[in-house]
Amino acid sequence: MRSRQWLFIGMIRLFLRCLRLGRRRRLRFQKSLGELCSYGKLCIKSLVYNSFTNSDVIIDSLFEPVYWLVDHVTRWFGVAFVVLVILLTSSIVLIVYICVLPLILRTYSTGWVVWHLSYGHWNLLMIVFHYYKAARTSPGYPPQTKTDIPSVSICRKCIAPKPARTHHCSICNRLVGRLLREAAWLNNCVGHYNHRYFFSFCLFMTLGCIYCSVSSREMFREAYSAIEKMKGYAKEKLHMAINETYYQTPPPPYTFREKMFHKCIVYLFVLCSSVTLALGALALWHGLLITRGETSIERHINKKEKQRLQKKGRIYRNPYNYGRLDNWRVFFGVETRRHWITRVLLPSSHLPCGDGLTWTVPPSVTSSKGVLAI
Ligand SMILES: [Zn+2]
Ligand SMILES: [Zn+2]
Repeated sequence: MRSRQWLFIGMIRLFLRCLRLGRRRRLRFQKSLGELCSYGKLCIKSLVYNSFTNSDVIIDSLFEPVYWLVDHVTRWFGVAFVVLVILLTSSIVLIVYICVLPLILRTYSTGWVVWHLSYGHWNLLMIVFHYYKAARTSPGYPPQTKTDIPSVSICRKCIAPKPARTHHCSICNRLVGRLLREAAWLNNCVGHYNHRYFFSFCLFMTLGCIYCSVSSREMFREAYSAIEKMKGYAKEKLHMAINETYYQTPPPPYTFREKMFHKCIVYLFVLCSSVTLALGALALWHGLLITRGETSIERHINKKEKQRLQKKGRIYRNPYNYGRLDNWRVFFGVETRRHWITRVLLPSSHLPCGDGLTWTVPPSVTSSKGVLAI
């Protein structure tokens, strides 16, 4: 009798415990659901609520997944792009050494040979130097700690004080001084400290490709007609095989070495011509921006500002435009006439004017157009 009572009490206790446990679990679930809802609400609010919200912010928010995808692809494939650039450039250099240079040495006069050897090697040196420096030099980031650097606004992506001419790079996920762009084929950001290397690389690579295309144009014509002949021979051979009008295979008209030679020349000419067009256009565009004293991002901002002030009947003037020649002098860091040779036409590791965060008129500016700008 007593044992039955104990069993009954035990069962009731167990039932009550299960009820309590279930309620506790339910409460915990409700609490976490509530937290999740409030977190979601906060996320939506942080995206939507902004006293400065305009159409640009909304479009930026809508395109955020696309930016995310592009940023991650660029980050992952950055090294692959660099390897590709190195492989393509090396293949062209190898073809020039194996196919084009022996012909130049055999057929050209001593003066032309000296010119080809000097120019070709100088151009190659400039390409390699500027590519290495552009890829390895830090673009220049504002310090992460609290500083006295004057800022013009707050970066809405990393919520940090934004000094003049700095812009947010979504791949580095931080502000960059005088940001140009993230170049996938450099696996690096292009900013204040490596802008000169980037432009010089584009310029010397274009010049190198023009040199290779012009030097190999006659060889390309011959190689192209030889390849056409090869195709004709192949068709003829196939036709003979179908009709069974031969008993012995005729000797091949071109050896494997000759075939490879012609194909390499065609590859050299086509690749160099394509790069000349693409990189030449890029170098021209950046040259135009340097002449105006602005970057590609600043051009967009300046254009908007110009239109805004025009409506008010005022004229906008870019405070960083020191005049055409002086913009180039500041860009290349040319302080004396000798620097046009030592700093522009020869490899030079000199630093650019300023730190890319605070802006004063550089000492090399000679015109009176330069003004102090923050
Ligand atoms: Zn930022
Ligand atoms: Zn970056």
